[in-house]
Amino acid sequence: MNEFDLIRQYFTRPAPSAVLGVGDDAAILRPTPGQDLHVSVDMLVEGRHFFADVSPQALGHKTLAVNLSDMAAMGAKPRWAFLSLALPQLDEAWARDFSRGLFALAGQYGVDLAGGDTTRGPLTLSITIMGETPQGQALRRDAAQVGDDVWVSGELGLGAIAVAVRNGQLADAGLSEDVLAACQCKLDFPVPRLELGQALLGVAHAAADVSDGLLADLGHILTASGVAAEIRADSLPSLPPLEAQRERWLDYLAAGGDDYELCFTAPQAAREAVEAAGKAAGCRVTRIGHIVAGSGVRLLDGQGAVMTLKRAGYDHFA
Ligand code: ADP
Ligand code: MG
Repeated sequence: MNEFDLIRQYFTRPAPSAVLGVGDDAAILRPTPGQDLHVSVDMLVEGRHFFADVSPQALGHKTLAVNLSDMAAMGAKPRWAFLSLALPQLDEAWARDFSRGLFALAGQYGVDLAGGDTTRGPLTLSITIMGETPQGQALRRDAAQVGDDVWVSGELGLGAIAVAVRNGQLADAGLSEDVLAACQCKLDFPVPRLELGQALLGVAHAAADVSDGLLADLGHILTASGVAAEIRADSLPSLPPLEAQRERWLDYLAAGGDDYELCFTAPQAAREAVEAAGKAAGCRVTRIGHIVAGSGVRLLDGQGAVMTLKRAGYDHFA
C-alpha cells in the first residue's frame, strides 16, 4: 500500500456538502449565502498533546473533536474539514482505526472531510476546520460586557485529572473506578459542545472553549473585551465526588485544561434563555461568576476573599 492507496482507502469519503472533495489539486467549496465563514486550525503532536500509546480510534476522534470545539466556541455549524497527517510509516491498521474514530464523529455532526495532506514524519495530526454562522452573529471573545454573568458548560477538571493519573501524580488520591473511567473517557473522547454553541447565538455575548484551563481561557475573553471577572471557586462544576472536595481539586477544575467545555458570558436578563439553551443542547450550564470593570480574573472563596492557585493555565512554551 502506498500513500495514494492509503488516502483512497481510509480518507476518501463522499463529501456531499463540497462541490469537489478529496482527489483533485484542491477542494471546491460553496459557502452558504448570508453566512460568515469560520476557519480554524489545531495541531496535535505525539508526546505533547497525546500519549504515544493512545488508541488510534481515540486519536481520530480527538483530532477532530478539538477542532469542532473551536467551532462550538464561535457558535458555528461545522461544515468542512481538512486533515494533515505526518506518519512515521504507512501503518494500515493505524490508518483504519484512526479514520474510524474521525469519521464517526464527523458523521455525527455532518462534517465532510474535503481534503488534506499526507507525509512521512514524527506522528503529527492537524485539522483545518471550516464552519458557518449567520452574518455578524458569531460568539466572539471580544464581546463580554460589564455586568454579564460568566457561565461554563459541563464538568471541569476531568481531562487534567486523567493526565495526572497517567503521570503517576495521583496514586493515593482515592478516586473511585467510576470517576477514573469518566476522567479517562473525557480525555480520550471529548464531546464538542456544538449544539450548545449554536443555541447560544443571540443569547450569549462572548465565548471561548476551555482547552488550556478555565481561568486561562476566560482570561483570553477578558483581555479581548477589556474587562475583568470575579469567579466563585465554590461554584465550579465537576463530578459530584470532586465537587464534594472542591478545595482539594481546585487547581484541576480552575486551571487543568483538556476540558473542551465552553466558557461564555451573557447578560443577566438572559439567564432563562441560557438555561433553555443548555436544556435544548442536553448540556449542563453553570453560572460561575460575573464580569466587572478592570482587568484580570479574581478567584473568590465562599467569604469573597481572593484565592491563588498553584498552577496557571497550560502554556506550551512555559
Ligand atoms: P498534491 O500533490 O496535489 O498536493 P496530494 O497527493 O497531496 O496532492 O493529495 C491528493 C488528494 O488527496 C488531494 O485532494 C488532497 O486534498 C487529498 N488528501 C491527501 N492527504 C489527505 C488526508 N490525510 N486526508 C484527506 N485527504 C487527503
Ligand atoms: Mg499535497
